[in-house]
Amino acid sequence: MIEKTEAIVLKSMRYRDSSRIVTFYSDRFGKISGIAKGARSAWNKFGASLEPLTYVALVLYKKEGRELHLISQCDTLRHHKNIQSDLERLPSGLAMVELLNQVTHEEEQNPALFDLLRGSLHALEVSSRGANSVFLAFALRLAGLFGYRPEFRKCLRCGGLLSSESGTHRILFSAPKGGFYCRSCSGHLDETEYEAFRGEKSVRRPDVAGIAGTPLIRISVPAAKLLERLSSVSMDRVTSLAFGDSMGNELLELVRLYLQSHFDDLRMPRSLTMFQAKV
Ligand SMILES: [Zn+2]
Repeated sequence: MIEKTEAIVLKSMRYRDSSRIVTFYSDRFGKISGIAKGARSAWNKFGASLEPLTYVALVLYKKEGRELHLISQCDTLRHHKNIQSDLERLPSGLAMVELLNQVTHEEEQNPALFDLLRGSLHALEVSSRGANSVFLAFALRLAGLFGYRPEFRKCLRCGGLLSSESGTHRILFSAPKGGFYCRSCSGHLDETEYEAFRGEKSVRRPDVAGIAGTPLIRISVPAAKLLERLSSVSMDRVTSLAFGDSMGNELLELVRLYLQSHFDDLRMPRSLTMFQAKV
């Protein structure tokens, strides 16, 4: 059956001599894979439309029960050439598609996730600043679409507002619970009972103040406030949220631990190694 959908290329690999196997995230079918026959030799037919990150209008010959469908047409709607040609932006763009590829299954439709990816790539394409902010905002929102939306506004224990915390002290963030403890509540948790933020994979410690087995991460108040902004402002304003190297690494580490506590066997995208060094 011939089907049309808008889609974004997640990955593309050579198959045999002259074909390509391409994985898309599509509006109508979620993640879907297809084979483009003769793609390498027939550059004229598909052009650059099968490159990762390209936003395309896809026509598939789709067979029920098959994992690989036949790509009959693929036209570029937006190539994202600024992302493709910029070493600041490319790692963020690739990290987004890699992350999405890892957490999704074939043919589970989720138009909101498609819109998130499309909007995030657009934000990355049109702004020369804030590439790392776009990735972090994307990752937090992606978690939200799977039911793991983090709560950065209020303390998990007393409901105190994060906005009323001032200073640069550290508070505690619970990755599994997706929320933080204010200064006062954090102070009630014994120093030896939580996981310290070390910039590397934390060591699990037992029992925290009645929250059995909950791993906690230390996070500075300014970092928590940035995460709150990253998860709440509109995507086109995310790029204006700027921060320095050490803050970037702190945010990335927290987002990594957060995602890994909710998605089994999640590997942080390889392209982020580059991103992390530049944050
Ligand atoms: Zn509190």
